[in-house]
Formats: sequence, structure tokens, C-alpha cells
Amino acid sequence: MFAVSVVGLGLVQYQYLQVGLSLARAQFNDKIGRAVKQIKTDLNHENELTFLMGKALTDDDTYFTLSLDSLRDASSHYYRDFLQDRLLMQGIKTDFTYVIYSKDSVLSLRSPDYRENRKDRLRYPIELTGYLPELTGKRMVTELQFRDLNAYFLSQLNGLTIPGLIFIIVIIIAVIWVLRSLYRQHSIITTTNDFINNLTHELKTPVFSIGLATKMLMEREKEAGSTRFLHIIKQQNERLKQHIDKVLQLATLEKKKKYIRMEETDFYPHLKKFAEDFREMTVLEQVDFRYKLHGDHYPVRGEVIHILNAVGNLLDNAKKYSENVPKVTLEAHTEREKLYISVTDNGIGIPEKEREQVFEKFFRGGTGDIHRVEGYGLGLNYVKQVVRSHKGKILVDSEPGKGTKVTIVIPLLP
Ligand code: ATP
Ligand code: MG
Repeated sequence: MFAVSVVGLGLVQYQYLQVGLSLARAQFNDKIGRAVKQIKTDLNHENELTFLMGKALTDDDTYFTLSLDSLRDASSHYYRDFLQDRLLMQGIKTDFTYVIYSKDSVLSLRSPDYRENRKDRLRYPIELTGYLPELTGKRMVTELQFRDLNAYFLSQLNGLTIPGLIFIIVIIIAVIWVLRSLYRQHSIITTTNDFINNLTHELKTPVFSIGLATKMLMEREKEAGSTRFLHIIKQQNERLKQHIDKVLQLATLEKKKKYIRMEETDFYPHLKKFAEDFREMTVLEQVDFRYKLHGDHYPVRGEVIHILNAVGNLLDNAKKYSENVPKVTLEAHTEREKLYISVTDNGIGIPEKEREQVFEKFFRGGTGDIHRVEGYGLGLNYVKQVVRSHKGKILVDSEPGKGTKVTIVIPLLP
């Protein structure tokens, strides 16, 4: 399609050029017409030039003290100057050759490079009147010939053709650029699909462990009632749940936004329940978690599951990226038609230069240590996409070594 358009554009350009050329040609003819008229008028009477030419044409060397050859050379030279001057008066600057001859005798004057009957030249014969025909007693004609006219016309049209060509080249470059970024986009999608394939494979390991542990637990419980295996189940189950969540998040966001169903709801009870559940879970882990939800109605238009998942990702990060016992706070309040949900931690913080990058897909913080922490670099990208689809924004406030506060801002319903 692109190739067709460029060829089409080229053809249109070519047509314009043709039109331009014929216009230039018409204009040229017009100018020549005026120059010819002027030349005819000026040669009508006896003056210094016609007198000299008359002597040269009739081979009369009695008046001047010059040889016949010099006389012819001189008059040819002055005639050339005269013609050039008349052409210039009409704005014609191209090279030309000329001849002046009589219809039915051998009398003639010509420019040195004049050739008869050349097809590639434009010819303008002028029948002379007045002094010269009367002097020689013959019909006199002078003829102007122009060569390389296309080049001349093109040089006049350069103002149009060169910008036209430049713009076509710019279009070609722009399209190539777009195609390249499309290609890059395509390869990102391919990596994502590979990733999903690997991940689903990985999922089988914890599933297998859970199956095995459950089986053993059932055997053991019959005898002693130990809870060790119960913990394994719980842990592995949690991991599995997170993995599955990630796949689901990715799959959801990879497809069109249609997968997020926007509904008008009160988000407050959902967030409250979510915070309570999270608190219960952190009791088992070594995490100091508090939450404070101001107000009691958060009317929003959006999909609850996705916003909760986003908050879950922030809480997960707050827990993960700290060196000691994590102190995590979830806070929410409404202000000027907006809902603010923030998660604060006392963790390692995000360095200034990474503050934009953390939202990129598959980006993980660079400092060696945190790679002990598991992760895919998807969490914040997901949060960003969810927030964007709710027409909201994310604020990051972080001080390396001290902690991080990430805030989600979502517009409230009026
Ligand atoms: P995933 O969430 O997919 O399991 P992840 O946690 O590495 O993996 P993101 O949640 O997108 O991915 O976070 C990207 C990076 O941002 C992290 O690797 C980490 O370096 C940095 N980061 C995110 N949250 C915090 C935080 N609260 N404190 C310090 N660094 C953070
Ligand atoms: Mg994360």
C-alpha cells in the first residue's frame, strides 16, 4: 500500500512537472513573441546596426576601411549583442544561435555554431521588413534557435520540484520509521508470549509440590497431627496464586481494554475488606502493616478487581523491597473529586534515575541485592496500565535508604 502511494505520489509529481513544463513553455513562447516583435521593429529602419549588416550582407566594403571578412565578423558580433539584449529585455537568458539570410540568394550572416535543420532545436523564423529587404531587393529572414530548452525550463521549475522531492523523501523516512517501530512492537509481543509459555511450564512445579505435600499430610495427620506440611501447602499455594495472578494480569492487559469492564461502584467496602484480609495474612509474616481509610464512600467508575490487584502489587512491593522488618501503611482519602490510595514503606527506596523506568515492562531495580527478591518486573507496569484505563495517575515519592510512597489517584464520580 505504501509502495503504491509513493509511486502514485511520484506520478502526480510527474504530472505536475509536465503541467509546469508546458506552462513554462507557453510563457517562453509568449516572451519570445514579444522579443520577436521588438527585433522586427528595431530592424525596420536604417540605423548603425542595420547599416553595418546591410554592408556585410551585400559584400560592400567600399564604405568601411575593413576587409570583407572583418566586416562580416563585426556585423555578426553586433547583431548577436543586439539579439541578446532584446531577449534579455523579455527575461530570456538561455543560449541561442541565429542566422539572417535571404530567401532566394546566398546572402547570409550566421553565428559560428549555427547548423541548419537540427531537430532538437526550437526555431523562431522572423520575416524582416523595411530597410534590409529594400536594400538587398530580396525577402530577408532572420531565425533564432534555442537548445537545451528542457533543462532551461526545469531550472525555472526547481523551486517546485526540489521541495516536492524532499517532502516525498521525508514521507518515506517517516513511514520506514513507523514500520520499524511496529516491527519492534511485534517482537515485544513475541517475547511476552514466550514468557507466558515459560511461566505456565514453571507453574507445574509448585502444583506438583502441593499435590505431594497434601498427600503426605493426609497420611501423617492420621498419626500425629503435625502442621509443618500445612505450612508448605500454604506457602506454595500463595506462590502459585501470585504466579497465576501475573499471567492473568498480563493476558488481560495484552489484549484490548475491553477486558476491563467499567462499572459504577462504591470502592470503599472492597478496599476495606481487602485491607483486613491483607492484615490477617501479614500477622503470619514478619510485616508491620497498618491501614487508614478516611471517609466511608469512594464512588468510582471502574473495575474493582483490577484496582484491588494494583493496590496488591504496591503492597507486595512495599513488603519485598525492604531490608529489616517492613513497615507498610495503606492510606486512602478523597480530595477534590479524586480518590487517593497510597502505600508507604520504610524500605530501600527507588533511586532517582529509576523512577521512570520502574513502570516499564520487565524492568527490575538494578542494585544487586534485591535480585534475591523474586519478581518479573511486571507489577508496576500493570499498575500503570490499570490506572491509565481509569483515567488516573500515579505519584512516586521515594528516598533511597529511607522508604517509598506510591500513590494512585483515580477520579471520583460526581
Ligand atoms: P513483580 O511485581 O512483577 O513480581 P517486581 O516487583 O520486580 O516484579 P515491579 O513491581 O514492576 O516489579 O517493580 C519494578 C522495580 O521497581 C522493582 O524491581 C524494584 O527495583 C523497584 N521497586 C518497586 N517498588 C519499590 C519499593 N516500594 N521500594 C523500592 N523499590 C521498588
Ligand atoms: Mg512488584
